[in-house]
Amino acid sequence: MDQKNLINVFKHVKENKYNLNKIGWSKNTIVRFFSKINIPNNFKEDCWFWTAAKTNGGYGIFRVKGKNKRAHRLMYEFFYGEIPKDIHILHKCDIPKCVSPFHLWKGTHLDNVQDKVNKNRTVKLIGEHHGACKHDLKKIYNILKQIENGEIKNKQDLQNKIKDIQYQYIMRILNGKIRKDVGDLFDLQKLKNQFCGRFTNDQIKEIRNCLQNGETGNSISKRFNCNESTISYIKNKKFYNHVK
Ligand SMILES: [Zn+2]
Repeated sequence: MDQKNLINVFKHVKENKYNLNKIGWSKNTIVRFFSKINIPNNFKEDCWFWTAAKTNGGYGIFRVKGKNKRAHRLMYEFFYGEIPKDIHILHKCDIPKCVSPFHLWKGTHLDNVQDKVNKNRTVKLIGEHHGACKHDLKKIYNILKQIENGEIKNKQDLQNKIKDIQYQYIMRILNGKIRKDVGDLFDLQKLKNQFCGRFTNDQIKEIRNCLQNGETGNSISKRFNCNESTISYIKNKKFYNHVK
């Protein structure tokens, strides 16, 4: 790390009256964190590259309080405070290993989708060229979100609520065949299971009751004629999360 640049950053921060370290790190942690970052001379404009461990997707990893966390998110918290639940920290520069607080912004899941599409115009254009993108991103996103939330539970719901989309079109998305631009942002297996689910809400409640009463997943799965993993997904609310 170039000490001089870090000192310049802190000078800048002081001049602009940021309140740093809202996450309450110790001095040791702060030193350890910043020692893994290459702060450029032109620190307001250029990327700050994370030089230590990274995820497969290229995001920096920092271990703090016994947990591995994403470095860019920690940087955001260090500079700007806690990140609300369900909020994504996005890169203006689109470089995962960059942790520059000046390149990070917070957005919703949908912002994240749209940001990805904006930065990936070629893919979008190819899709449009082939006539595959007759439904816009936001529309598909909202439909998948409703399936995820349990607002659209099945084919019937879909046909009642969304008039101008084919059931088969949604199934092809859920099967990962088309619209990966949106599909990649969801757990499609889970959505598919909810959408094509064979359990009624009452059955789900019954399964949850059995689990609470200590019956094993194996025993329940035999009775309901499904995989044991399905029961464990129901237990962990990965499936049928909308059924209370
Ligand atoms: Zn950057």
